[in-house]
Amino acid sequence: MSELASERYTDRIATGPLILVQEVLNTRAAGKPALDDLLSTPDAATSWLAGALDEWSRRTGTEAPAIDVDESGLVRLQQLRASLQMTVSGTVRDAPVRSAPKGVSGVLEVRIDADGVFSLTPRGKDVGWAVAAVLNEITNARLTGTWRRLKMCHNRVCSVAFYDGTNPNNGVWHDVRICGNAVNLRASRQRRAAARA
Ligand SMILES: [Zn+2]
Repeated sequence: MSELASERYTDRIATGPLILVQEVLNTRAAGKPALDDLLSTPDAATSWLAGALDEWSRRTGTEAPAIDVDESGLVRLQQLRASLQMTVSGTVRDAPVRSAPKGVSGVLEVRIDADGVFSLTPRGKDVGWAVAAVLNEITNARLTGTWRRLKMCHNRVCSVAFYDGTNPNNGVWHDVRICGNAVNLRASRQRRAAARA
């Protein structure tokens, strides 16, 4: 199995299907030196999405289609990522590559089978299907209470998306040793400089 985008940055990985949302967020270029933006070309996006959907399928027991990301699909995924950044952190962390932030929508089908099984499934072709699947997982996470555990690191330069599985659910850094210390050190330097001025 190919490496997940999130595994490049953190071991605080969402435990359930919410991994799909975390994956979209962690396609961004982060780290020092910065790793590749996985939404920079259709090819990179196609291979990342295959790995992310593989993992999602394994966790949900639901089959996902093979998706070929084309140029317009790539822009749509970038828009989705920017919108997710707004949702999770209240601000867009990266300027979208080719166009201004814009909302994206997906289609879900609600059905109940003759045997009484209820289901909500993504509809649409290619990237449209993936967008619907991502938005569906956000809806599920809001209902089950796991949504508030998906966060973006408060160190703006980092902004890695992590899953806070701790009981107080009060973490703000993806890794307190890396980002917590760096930001605290910067703040204390600024305070010292201000005191000297
Ligand atoms: Zn961080």
